[in-house]
Amino acid sequence: SCFIRLFVVVVVLLGSVTMHVSDPVLPSPPLEALRLEGKLSFDDAHLAAKDFGNRYRLLPAAVVHPASVSDVASTVRHVFRLGPSSKLTVAARGHGHSLRGQAQADGGIVVRMESLGGGTRVSHRGGQPYADASGGELWINVLEECLKHGLAPKSWTDYLHLTVGGTLSNAGISGQAFRHGPQISNVNQLEIVTGKGEVMNCSEEQNADLFHAALGGLGQFGIITRAQIALEPAPEMVRWIRVLYSDFASFTEDQEMLISAKETFDYIEGFVIINRTGLLNNWRSSFDPQDPARASQFDSDGKILFCLEMTKNFNRHEAESMSQVYIYQYSACMKLNIPEQTPDLWIDISVHVSEVKLRSKGLWEIPHPWLNLFVPRTRIKDFAEGVFGKILTDSNNGPILLYPLNRSKWDNRTSAVIPDEEIFYLVALLSSAPSHGSLERALKQNSEIVDFCNKAGIKMKQYLPYYTTREEWNGHYGDRWKTFGHRKRTYDPLAILAPGQRIFRKPL
Ligand code: FAD
Repeated sequence: SCFIRLFVVVVVLLGSVTMHVSDPVLPSPPLEALRLEGKLSFDDAHLAAKDFGNRYRLLPAAVVHPASVSDVASTVRHVFRLGPSSKLTVAARGHGHSLRGQAQADGGIVVRMESLGGGTRVSHRGGQPYADASGGELWINVLEECLKHGLAPKSWTDYLHLTVGGTLSNAGISGQAFRHGPQISNVNQLEIVTGKGEVMNCSEEQNADLFHAALGGLGQFGIITRAQIALEPAPEMVRWIRVLYSDFASFTEDQEMLISAKETFDYIEGFVIINRTGLLNNWRSSFDPQDPARASQFDSDGKILFCLEMTKNFNRHEAESMSQVYIYQYSACMKLNIPEQTPDLWIDISVHVSEVKLRSKGLWEIPHPWLNLFVPRTRIKDFAEGVFGKILTDSNNGPILLYPLNRSKWDNRTSAVIPDEEIFYLVALLSSAPSHGSLERALKQNSEIVDFCNKAGIKMKQYLPYYTTREEWNGHYGDRWKTFGHRKRTYDPLAILAPGQRIFRKPL
């Protein structure tokens, strides 16, 4: 505990104004009575108090490294039996890629899900392939196991060093979501430890309410210990194409047309580039050398550009016909063809390669004041006009993703919250803040964007939501708040689970 205290002092001295640090809480004696196949530790609390956002440090009393689902169940049951007067809480921690302490438990118990083991098994039911994966498994490992069988998950995230339970507690979105829905629309069955410490299997047919509650449920109703994930044949090859626009309307019209077309790409995303110097020189493939004049129009300095990113899957025997993907049909200004890739984890490559580079420069473990919004289609133009080039005057601090999703691929019985229109856009402002000044600037921009939306009546919803008051959570869930609260009282009546989301407080 000396070490912990010293650590806290150091953190406080180094901390920025926005760092949230808790006092260490010594373990309550009954905790040591826990009998586990795995282990309970008190000396790695500082690691469980860190996350990707790097702005919150809430020290737990202890960390459980479960070796089995019964370890997870015993831990929760132990806390449940302490009753409503105990302040002890339990947070499952996936890969700790939350942004604002959502996987932390101030003075509580953190369950390190990656220790759970159990791996991934690939099977078939009714001719449909699925992966049965541990809730603490990284998606990259799930994918590698599936590829051994020539299969891959239908719906991914851009970055695969996230856990199955962590993304299923949010939604799990990427450029395949327009075809297959988010990851939470591609799960057949879950094994869950509820807030009472019971182990329950659930699916559309069995304990359906718990199944839907847990999907997108921000960890509020149970800890996902296993998930059955829908698979499809993995492509042998992938063609990756980027198309640049200077006009927002053409960019979004093309995106919407592409996600609605019958014959279309397999992955569609997009991003916004604001006032970036020499951006195009850094891209892996450059312009057609026969057309340098056209290339020079796309100098990125001082401009706002929009980039559509798509991929087409194919097998080797189709390679020839794929040499000209039907890109010319669209109102694109320019095409940038990147050579064919094998399907070897191509999406994750781009983010993970950046991670490795940033880590080597000490620029990964810095604050990440991200803001992720779902903006209804009918207001995306207003959003772009009010935000790009006005509130956001450059995109030098991180990517700005912007791509459409379709409500009909989401199941409104799950806990995920999306706008009330068939097409809505993910706008992801993925800033990094290497200095105190850049953090303050990004936070100010984020709140200006939210204020702008509120004043302009743009009914956006936050993805990976963060709120501090009951009223805000109530507003986030709208008419589903009642169901959300009812489910909480049913599955976690003492409000033990996922305290870092700050939705409910103990006792309920
Ligand atoms: P944690 O951050 O550890 O946990 C997240 C929440 O879920 C916490 O409240 C935790 O208590 C709870 N939880 C964790 N495990 C379980 C479990 N087994 N059962 C129940 N509750 C649990 N999201 C996308 O949708 N698409 C993307 O492309 C995408 N890319 C990302 C790239 C990066 C670099 C980062 C940092 C995040 C990205 N995310 C993306 C967001 C990601 O989905 C969330 O950060 C999510 O929290 C997953 O992270 P994790 O597994 O580390 O979970």
